Amino acid sequence: MSVTHGVPGTIVYRVGDGAYVNLTNRCPSACTFCLRQTCDAVGRADSLWLTRDVTAEEAVQALDAFDDEGFTVADASEVVFCGFGEPTENLSSLLAAAAHVKERWHKRVRVNTNGQGSLVNGRDITPELATCVDEVSVSLNHPDPARYQELVRSSFGDEAFPALLEFVRRARENGMEATLTTVATTITAEEEARCAEPCAELGARHRIHPFVD
Ligand code: SF4
Repeated sequence: MSVTHGVPGTIVYRVGDGAYVNLTNRCPSACTFCLRQTCDAVGRADSLWLTRDVTAEEAVQALDAFDDEGFTVADASEVVFCGFGEPTENLSSLLAAAAHVKERWHKRVRVNTNGQGSLVNGRDITPELATCVDEVSVSLNHPDPARYQELVRSSFGDEAFPALLEFVRRARENGMEATLTTVATTITAEEEARCAEPCAELGARHRIHPFVD
């Protein structure tokens, strides 16, 4: 996209009692179950398609101005970086916006991520995230590396799965909470149970998302 003026689309939107932040549509994966394939939005947003990445300034302004029928960031239980793309693809805006949330509202900050952010940015980004993020919620999707890649179809290929585990390990070392998530119905109960092992090893929780189509 070459549009560089005007607001690129919906940046902040409400899901439940959380304020969600949509910073990019870029993602190194092409998950078989990605919501982007079947719908335009999540929660109370109209559309999460952006004409380009959101700048740091736009993200801060959107957080300050957010008002969904009286619900503002001040009312949110947490601020979650999660949109139609991988938030760490737009790391500078993520860090600026999360720091602003901490400074202005002292809210809990979570990043929903595919765990490939250090590969995307070519360096270990967990120390930077730890300055303003409380929790990383990482899509594990499957406990087996080969099946993982079949499901997420990462452009990083076989590098993605070990990088995800390393990202979680480093996130924990840098003091962030970590949750590994799987999607109900995309894996068997036996495979779900096998996720307990990496979770225990890495000090992460396991959460099973309901499938949304
Ligand atoms: S990581 Fe998320 S945004 Fe990227 S393709 Fe998978 S489900 Fe979609």
